[in-house]
Order: sequence, then C-alpha cells, then structure tokens
Amino acid sequence: MTEQNLSGRTALVTGGASGIGAACARALAARGAHVTVADVDDVAAKSLADDIDGTAWHVDLLDTDPLTELRLETDILVNNAGIQTISPIEEFRPEDFRRIQTLMVEAPFLLIRAALPHMYATGFGRIVNVSSVHGLRASAFKAAYVTAKHGLEGLSKVTALEGGPHGVTSNCVNPGYVLTPLVQKQIADQAQVHGISESEVIEKVMLTESAIKRLVEPSEVASLVAWLASADAGMVTGASYTIDGGWTAR
Ligand code: NAD
Repeated sequence: MTEQNLSGRTALVTGGASGIGAACARALAARGAHVTVADVDDVAAKSLADDIDGTAWHVDLLDTDPLTELRLETDILVNNAGIQTISPIEEFRPEDFRRIQTLMVEAPFLLIRAALPHMYATGFGRIVNVSSVHGLRASAFKAAYVTAKHGLEGLSKVTALEGGPHGVTSNCVNPGYVLTPLVQKQIADQAQVHGISESEVIEKVMLTESAIKRLVEPSEVASLVAWLASADAGMVTGASYTIDGGWTAR
C-alpha cells in the first residue's frame, strides 16, 4: 500500500543508481510514477531501472555543456547526485572545490532550467533537492560540500518563488547521516584517521548530536521525497525539511 498516488507521473532522479537516490527511485515507482534513473554508473542505473520498470539515463553531470541545450519532459525532478571531499581549506584542491559546485549546484540549476518549460506547460511540477543538514549548518573541513548545499538551498527557494504561480513547487530535504556508500567511505576514512573502529566512528563522531541514536535509513528520506512529490504537498514550497534524528534541533 502506498499513501500517495503518483500514477501517470514521470519522475527523474539524479544519482538514482545508489543510496538515497535509489531509494527515491524505488519509492516514486512504488507510488506509480515512471522513473528515469539518471546516473554516471550506467550498469547500476540500468539494473535498478529494469527492476522498477523505469528508464536508465547514462549521464555524467560534471559534463554540463550538453545540459545547457536539454529539455526534460518530467513532472517530478529529484536533484540528488552528490559527492564529498573532506580537507582543511588551506589544503583543499581548487579542482575538487569546483567539481563539487558543478555537480551539486550548477547541474541542478541546469536540470531545473531544462524541466520548467514542461512543468509550466502542464501546470504541475515537483522539484525536490536533496540537500543536507550541511545546507543549514556548517562543519569544519567540508568547505566545498557546505558551500554547495547552501547554494542549493538558495536555488531551491528562487525556484519556489518563480514556479509557484505555475503550479510548480521546489523544496529541499536535509538528511543527517544516512547509511549509504558515500557515508560508508566516510566512516572507513575517519576510523583510519582517528585510529578507532567503524562502530566507534558511528557512535562517537556521527551520533553524538543525534537525539535518535541511529543513522537515517535511505528509505526514510525517500518517503519524505515521495510526499513532497505528491499532490498532497501542493502548498509546501520553498521549504527545507530536516530528517536527521534531531541533529539540528540541538
Ligand atoms: P551515493 O554515493 O550512495 O550515491 C550518489 C550517486 O550519485 C551514485 O549513484 C553516483 O554514481 C552518482 N553520481 C556521482 N557523480 C555523478 C555524476 N558526475 N553524474 C551523475 N551521477 C553521479 O550517495 P548518497 O549518500 O546516496 O548521497 C545522495 C545525496 O544525498 C547527495 O547529494 C548527498 O550530498 C546527500 N546526502 C547524503 C547524506 C548521507 O549521509 N549519505 C546525508 C545528507 C545528504
């Protein structure tokens, strides 16, 4: 049973082959949407697309030139693809900083730009941007990621203002730590840096500020995304929804 009926809707999820994106693709498909799984990992994207009767789109969102001419016929756009580099600012490689802004701010801008004409023509559109608690709060050594997520928050709000009169909503979801390949790598790296076990990293580094002492499940983020994509959420726009077990409440 699903709470929201998205049958007849088309959806596109970037970074849809793994982690939160894959959970979103599954959740939207389970509610009846035809989902395009957009990812640079074409094998995983195709496998998931086959599984949910969707479509795979092999795209490298770091290559933004082709996106400037793109037109997307999608009712729902989930800007989810993301990467992370952790380093002190003075050692941060400028090319890594630029790569993260390209993937996590410029590509979402170009995809929103490509999707709005169809959404305006049909009078319905749902844009959900997968931000982070780092779109609202900073952490040291994450200069590029925190900057990009704050940028995505701004882009989401401007889209909400412009899209509102046309039936288009735009919102952010702001997860805390979600157990995905991106975070698994972070856990392994931090265990090595601090010389502690991976479970100690989860307990002592990741969950110290959480009220609900566990990591977020990808499916929990996906349920929120699916609700924001539904007709029920028609009055919700320009908002940012934390899903972080109380991390930002502290
Ligand atoms: P993940 O690494 O599991 O998945 C990211 C996906 O993006 C992968 O399928 C990857 O192939 C794809 N991708 C990467 N570069 C790409 C490119 N150039 N073009 C197209 N696709 C590309 O990561 P995740 O943890 O599921 O993260 C998804 C989003 O959620 C990111 O925006 C991340 O910042 C955000 N987020 C994650 C967490 C967390 O704890 N995992 C918390 C808050 C926010």
